[in-house]
Amino acid sequence: MCHAFLTDTNFYQLLFQIDQSIAEEVREHGCDCGGVLHAAPYPRKPRGIRSALDSNYESRLSFCCSQDGCRRRHTPASVRFLGRKVYLGVIVVLITALHHGLTEARRRLLIEELDVAPQTLWRWRRWWREQFVATRCWRALAGQFIPPIEADGLPGVLLERLTAEALTERLMQLLILISPVTTATSSLRVSLDPQKM
Ligand SMILES: [Zn+2]
Repeated sequence: MCHAFLTDTNFYQLLFQIDQSIAEEVREHGCDCGGVLHAAPYPRKPRGIRSALDSNYESRLSFCCSQDGCRRRHTPASVRFLGRKVYLGVIVVLITALHHGLTEARRRLLIEELDVAPQTLWRWRRWWREQFVATRCWRALAGQFIPPIEADGLPGVLLERLTAEALTERLMQLLILISPVTTATSSLRVSLDPQKM
């Protein structure tokens, strides 16, 4: 494997812990109807690097309101699962972060090893440029960066602008920052401050 942390179980466990803490806040907050939230995870089968992933990666944390007549779904933001994409968020970020994540050779190797189809890659790039930039999450974030980050530079330039030294830490910062786009059913603000990690 081309980049050690990508096969490091600890790295994924840390991401899981972040997801757990986000989910715990959502659960504690409860439903707007006053109902208690019960665990109702979604089964997931993330592609690539299976060897480093434990069984926690076979589901996405989610809740259902227990109140009869409501039963509203609450899916917390996630630093692991980027919406419905079958690859983990960290993979999508790394592979599309041209020139700002991995070196070009390592990026190519990763694409080969994970068997990411060219049209998938193309779709991901378009997602950053067209869908991600239109999200409320990005519009709120974008104003914090001077000079502004152009859509074409996403997500690489964003990765580069973050403060942590190590790539793994910057990846985690980025995944926390963009995590609001991973859910449509939870508007609870993620209270973790990625700049303090
Ligand atoms: Zn409810």
